[in-house]
Amino acid sequence: MEKLLYVPNPLLRQKSEEIRSVGKNELKLADKMREIMVKAPGVGLAANQIGVLKQIVTISFVDQKTKNEVNYNLFNPKIISYSKEKILMEEGCLSLPEQYAEIERPKIINVQYLNDKNKLISKEVDGVEARILQHEIDHLSGKLFVDYLSSLKRNIIIKKVKKYLKKYDQR
Ligand SMILES: [Zn+2]
Repeated sequence: MEKLLYVPNPLLRQKSEEIRSVGKNELKLADKMREIMVKAPGVGLAANQIGVLKQIVTISFVDQKTKNEVNYNLFNPKIISYSKEKILMEEGCLSLPEQYAEIERPKIINVQYLNDKNKLISKEVDGVEARILQHEIDHLSGKLFVDYLSSLKRNIIIKKVKKYLKKYDQR
């Protein structure tokens, strides 16, 4: 725990459990996740990426339009609906270092989650934020962005990750 896990760690393929409510322990865990994410650096992190099978996601990115930093945690996040319109965007993942691929996903989503104050929030998100959230919420059900690629491409990327980790001696 409290360390980034890399592919092919089996914890990345497991389903995370819902939390009962957002309290001190959940906030502490989210803080720890944020610390690891910022250091990496990354724009989003799901709890199972540090070996905790709980439905917690944290995100942090700069909105290109407003130039504002967007930072928040999502507990038990669910995507309620997806736009029909899909777009291609390049994705990467802290659990697959230095690997990127163009992935097609819905452009807009409606997401529901508990915030830091245990309040149920529903909102529509678009653009980079919608992309990050779809990627992170996938993690909670054991899904990775490479699952959207052909098995050939996926295997090439996983091999490259193994090579990368060997080179840097990270298991
Ligand atoms: Zn990821």
